[in-house]
Amino acid sequence: MRYPAFILVFFLCSAFSLPNNPPDIQRIIADDLPYLIDFYKTRHKNPEISLEEKETSATLAKELEKIGFTVTQNFGGYGIVGIFKNGNGPTILYRTDMDALPMPEKTGLKYASTKTIQYKGAETGAMHSCGHDMHMTSWLGTARAMVKMKKEWKGTLMFIGQPAEEIGAGSKLMLDAGLYKKFGVPDYGIGLHCSPTIPAGQVGLAKGFTMANTESIDIKVFGRGAHGASPHKSIDPVVLSSLMVMEFQTIVSRNVDPIESAVLTVGSITGGTKHNIIPDEVKMQITLRTFKEDVRQLIHKRIREIAKGVAISAGLPEDMYPEVIIPGFSTVPNYNNPELVDQLSASAAKIIGSENVVYAAPQMVAEDFSRYGQTEHKIPTVLYWLGTIPPDRQEAAARGESIPALHSPYFYPDPKPSIETGVTVTTQMMLDLFNTVN
Ligand SMILES: [Zn+2]
Ligand SMILES: [Zn+2]
Repeated sequence: MRYPAFILVFFLCSAFSLPNNPPDIQRIIADDLPYLIDFYKTRHKNPEISLEEKETSATLAKELEKIGFTVTQNFGGYGIVGIFKNGNGPTILYRTDMDALPMPEKTGLKYASTKTIQYKGAETGAMHSCGHDMHMTSWLGTARAMVKMKKEWKGTLMFIGQPAEEIGAGSKLMLDAGLYKKFGVPDYGIGLHCSPTIPAGQVGLAKGFTMANTESIDIKVFGRGAHGASPHKSIDPVVLSSLMVMEFQTIVSRNVDPIESAVLTVGSITGGTKHNIIPDEVKMQITLRTFKEDVRQLIHKRIREIAKGVAISAGLPEDMYPEVIIPGFSTVPNYNNPELVDQLSASAAKIIGSENVVYAAPQMVAEDFSRYGQTEHKIPTVLYWLGTIPPDRQEAAARGESIPALHSPYFYPDPKPSIETGVTVTTQMMLDLFNTVN
């Protein structure tokens, strides 16, 4: 059957001008991939560690300005805030971190970092071994896609580049600098993190607490030194420390409700100088990870009680009881708003298929993204996992071999499918969020 020419023209015109016909997200992003892969490799080659993200943040600022964002630089260290207003609608915060780690890269990739830096008085390498370069690339790709599709949504994009995630300080720096006061309180917050276990092409989400509160606790154990051959003249802090380490193992197993989660690891003990001298002081370093405040407080109490109890049992006077130093600063646990997880999972499934949206079990690692949702405004936030593992490593994992974790000098994401998935999924999430609310 043939249609008269004018009807055909009418059909063609309508097909290209339907207001509710969203452009093909995947095509827009596929066209941008060469640019983004190049951006990723350049960032990978040029890592900057926490609080030194000067060139990285300037590059991100320039990229956002190029596509029409208004950018504020040096906001909370080297933090940047990019705002893109596009009519009346909600504001969505999307955060990338920017910092790398002080360690030499051993991936052998063509675009591996060969940079050397001075760190704590010694020369070492610098590497994006936590994938923050992938986070920046997904973030930039999403900004570029959202601007290209600005007819499809109304609202405000708040794209922030956060410094110093690896030292748990960056989100606090930006919030303390007045992020919400100066740029307004967003309605939602989104972030992603590379997963070292989920295959590239997939994403992982979970509701509620997904990452832990983390804090570093120091203990000084005092004693009475003596010759190693005259232990009866000492109160040996090495023995007291050993008793404490063993007693600490009972806190999680005997004091914390078995339904709750906590980790207490004594990562370092130092004391003494020589085989035959009993020292008068030993230092211990503990990492403590919890989800809930009452569990955290209970563990603090038990650490203090055990330290004091061991000292009393050794006959130490009160002024020589161990000193337990619990600094106020710690990374708060990550809480994924359950309703927002449902909504974002549905968007992800729509664009990459539900078989590629997987459950990611909570972990006792930490991320300071959580702070954006834990101000007085309590905005709903979600930090989701971006699958990054290349096929050969997926096969190795399936054979039961161990594959590199985050912070390993051998870790690397598979660039093309990871970027494609990160940008496609986050863009779809944002479009749906804007359009559901409007
Ligand atoms: Zn990290
Ligand atoms: Zn990280």
